[in-house]
Amino acid sequence: MAEKGTISIHTENIFPIIKKFLYSDHEIFLRELVSNAVDATQKLKRLSSLGELKEDIGSTRIEVSFDKKKKTITVKDRGIGMTAEEIKKYINQIAFSGATEFVEKFKDKGDAKDIIGKFGLGFYSAFMVAKEVEIVSKSYQENSEAAKWVCDGSTEFEISVAKKKDRGTEVILHIAEDSEEFLDEWKIKGILDKYCKFLPVEIQFGTTDESVEDGKDDDGKPKYKTVKKDRIINETEPLWTKSPSELKDEDYLKFYRELYPMTDDPLFWIHLNVDYPFNLTGILYFPKVKNDFEVQKNKIQLYSRQVFITDEVKDVVPEFLMLLHGVIDSPDIPLNVSRSYLQSDSNVKKINSHITKKVADKLGELFKKDRKSYEEKWNDIGIFVKYGMLSEDKFYEKAKDFALFKNTDNAFFTLDEYKEKVKDNQTDKDKNVIYLYTTDEGKQHAYVEAAKKKAYDVLLMNTMIDSHFINFIEQKLETTQLKRVDASTVDKLVDKDEKIDSVLSEKETEKVKTIFEGAISNENMKVAIESLSPDELPVTITMSEFMRRMKDMSQTGGGGYYAMMGNMPDQFDVTVNANHPVVSKILKSKKEEKKQQLAKQAFDLAMLSQNMLTGADLTNFINRTVELAAE
Ligand code: ADP
Repeated sequence: MAEKGTISIHTENIFPIIKKFLYSDHEIFLRELVSNAVDATQKLKRLSSLGELKEDIGSTRIEVSFDKKKKTITVKDRGIGMTAEEIKKYINQIAFSGATEFVEKFKDKGDAKDIIGKFGLGFYSAFMVAKEVEIVSKSYQENSEAAKWVCDGSTEFEISVAKKKDRGTEVILHIAEDSEEFLDEWKIKGILDKYCKFLPVEIQFGTTDESVEDGKDDDGKPKYKTVKKDRIINETEPLWTKSPSELKDEDYLKFYRELYPMTDDPLFWIHLNVDYPFNLTGILYFPKVKNDFEVQKNKIQLYSRQVFITDEVKDVVPEFLMLLHGVIDSPDIPLNVSRSYLQSDSNVKKINSHITKKVADKLGELFKKDRKSYEEKWNDIGIFVKYGMLSEDKFYEKAKDFALFKNTDNAFFTLDEYKEKVKDNQTDKDKNVIYLYTTDEGKQHAYVEAAKKKAYDVLLMNTMIDSHFINFIEQKLETTQLKRVDASTVDKLVDKDEKIDSVLSEKETEKVKTIFEGAISNENMKVAIESLSPDELPVTITMSEFMRRMKDMSQTGGGGYYAMMGNMPDQFDVTVNANHPVVSKILKSKKEEKKQQLAKQAFDLAMLSQNMLTGADLTNFINRTVELAAE
């Protein structure tokens, strides 16, 4: 006789709510059922190791199968099983008390689906895809009777005696019409691969074809035949669960290639292993990133006791380390809860800062141990280090000792070393040390060369994070200013207040200014006559460091004020060198037309060296050059 009962909850119908709200991804039902099967199996193993199990433990393999005709999906384990009483207790009462609590607390709240996971309703996620669920179970306890529980998704259930010989639990889902997409081999395999790939108990789903040797043919060559082999979904002891001392570099690389096929090998990795004050294991890999960092986010996988949870690790992993790859496994991260809850969770905060610290320590260690190989990796890791320094003060405190500047001679310096190197020659009249940089050695070549002629050092700041890093590091380093090599004439880059006398009288200076303003006739080109050394160029076009940064900020999405600046036309400074022979020649020319022509020529040359001469201006320049050469 089957016993009938009513699931004792006050709320009318829980299932529509579960179906709607439990998880946003319905596919998660499979993760929950297989996880339950794993738990039951591990409980059994523990009992067995304690000598509590009378029978031989036998195979503990979990089997997932489906039947397209009967429209069922079955998860079968050989774990501890349940008696009828236990089913009533664990499946009906406990879960439903959780469900009742849930419904009462959160039925009116919009973020219900994020919170429900807290109540341990894993099993009921089956009703997201099933119209009826059967449990057939036999407990490991001696002489226990197998039981069968059936529930059609209403609050009614039926429990009866079942025929089942072996120990364990079978959960049979009768898939609802709107979820028949799950009755598909590749769909199921895909879900298992995603969530169950590293579960600690062997999981079998279907078979695979394998080619095996089958005797020899007449010529003595081996013959092959195809045989069906059980397909095992998971690796039960993934790398992160092992002790680092047992592992070789090759093991880490192999695991990386499994996780991220088709990706370049990583640069190095960190094996995380914490058991106090929270539990955390994992391996973080530093990939080769270069400049395309947006596309690479969300590669770290988050697990809880080897069950895949998500690859959105925001909040758990500091923002600047989202570019890393690898796995993190922690049972102490609250799962399926809302973002805002995650952010305020103290464990999550601790995990986050622990990871930051570990990464900083590892980088510091690499730097100390083998500076040369660290420098070789700088192109790839520099982006993490700079991003980290910008975003986390704690990280900055450590990273300031291993962050590197690279100059145009491909030499590397720590922040302290660099200050030491340039402070004598590059201190200006206000006692500021001026760091010069180029964002593009090719385009700013003339300026870089001019600076080098003065024995100034020039830093390379050519990655996408550098425009932010420049602002940041300038604030951090006292009495230091960063200037792009074309921020002013080379004489003024490091303004040492050394006066050079002008060969021009005041009247002549005015005259030169008028000539150039006439020849250039562009209100965004501000002409100034300066007395520079005669071996500087006759005309230099520069953009002040302030203007340049405003412009860069508007381009890299500074927003608001910066965006406004971005709409303004670029303003340049045109410096005419009063002491250059060309300027004297212009003044001495008899015809006004000739003066204009020469001034224009000198200006265009300056434009050319800034890569700003294009279109008609370039054509005119070429024609004029030919004309002048023919004179
Ligand atoms: P949780 O797993 O979070 O406790 P579930 O609703 O998934 O919540 O399961 C409720 C309980 O039912 C489990 O704690 C366990 O005692 C029992 N149970 C579920 N599935 C199995 C199974 N395959 N074998 C044995 N017991 C199970």
